[in-house]
Amino acid sequence: MKALCWHGKEKVQIDTVPDPVIQDPGDIILQVTSTAICGSDLHLYDGYVPTMEKGDILGHEFMGEVVETGAAVRTLEKGDRVVVPFPIACGHCFFCTHDQFSLCDESNPNKSLLDKMYGHGGAALFGYSHLFGGFAGGQAEYVRVPYADVGPLKVPDGLSDEQVLFLSDIFPTGYGAVEEAGVKPGDTVAIWGCGPVGQFAIQGAWLLGAERVIAIDRVPERLELARTKGRAETIDASEERVMDRLNELTDNRGPDLCVDAVGMEAHGVGTVDAVLDRVKQAVMLGTDRAHALREVIQACRKGGRVAVAGVYAGLIDKFPFGAAFGKGLTFTMGQCHAHKYLRPLLQRIQKGEIDPSFLITHRLPLDQAPAAYKTFRDKEDGCIKVVLKP
Ligand code: NAD
Ligand code: ZN
Repeated sequence: MKALCWHGKEKVQIDTVPDPVIQDPGDIILQVTSTAICGSDLHLYDGYVPTMEKGDILGHEFMGEVVETGAAVRTLEKGDRVVVPFPIACGHCFFCTHDQFSLCDESNPNKSLLDKMYGHGGAALFGYSHLFGGFAGGQAEYVRVPYADVGPLKVPDGLSDEQVLFLSDIFPTGYGAVEEAGVKPGDTVAIWGCGPVGQFAIQGAWLLGAERVIAIDRVPERLELARTKGRAETIDASEERVMDRLNELTDNRGPDLCVDAVGMEAHGVGTVDAVLDRVKQAVMLGTDRAHALREVIQACRKGGRVAVAGVYAGLIDKFPFGAAFGKGLTFTMGQCHAHKYLRPLLQRIQKGEIDPSFLITHRLPLDQAPAAYKTFRDKEDGCIKVVLKP
């Protein structure tokens, strides 16, 4: 089959590789009908996630048709159309039974590596390095899906791939970030990053009753989408001092909930911390560029909440923990427990409360994935979300 494979920093290509096979009775094989490129894939593309190996198949946002089922699979059969959440979860460990699917104790065969880094390692993720299990991803013609009775969601008739594909990750991630942070009616929510995750955090904030949503980025078409589709007030970080503008907009109090939908490749505009981060990341002295997260902490109101949806992988310095402590902030963060949101968000789609396909700017054959990674990373050609058709 054809698959998009990682071959090094900024090097991805379509390779011909063996078709996946059932390895465990709980597996299914999917023929992938749609798959997307995520901001998280860019961290792999840009070489910031360790333990990638040449030939690894990327992709954790995908859906398709079941073509084979393992002997123990009970809930799915050949021909079913499913969308698959990006964390791999066993469904029965302590964490899965507490709805913390991305922290699953069982799914990651390389958990001991992650235990060394984090103290306690979490779930495996599709197509996301050997640290996170070494499972092949879904930017391919076929993919093996383990624990098939736990993750995949059967797609009801009448819904197109584009309407449900983002249940695999970015819709639950953006929505879940504000939900877990406890957004409530009357809240002013500020969201850093108007990429796919930020756009769904904006939508989530409204769906959950926020009174005001302010979105921050510096890419014009992303800010535009936040204003039009997202009905958010916007701040262009390349033109305004974000902190000053947020204070102006909130009577000097700061937003109630601040969401980092940027992650470890944040851009800073000439500030000292941003320049130092870049240098340290380049020489591997620090691994994450935390410019946005620092600003989030500074800007948040006293007693407010910070939700970190953006991915961080390793070490951050010059971290304003004193400010976080002094202001009594509450933090929520982590890989989204996507499984938990599949059904509630599917219902919102079915009721017509939201059509997630508004985000798609590029629809391409899988063959064009290598060029699409670059276009998406560099935000060229108005690119906000790429959907690939194997
Ligand atoms: P993206 O790269 O398309 O979007 C990031 C956006 O942040 C860009 O529009 C960029 O211009 C903007 N940005 C950069 N620096 C900024 C700054 N200092 N202030 C404000 N905006 C800034 O990616 P995405 O797909 O939207 O993903 C965003 C983050 O969420 C990534 O780190 C990704 O890995 C992460 N993510 C997390 C989960 C999870 O489960 N927690 C799931 C999916 C993605
Ligand atoms: Zn993703």
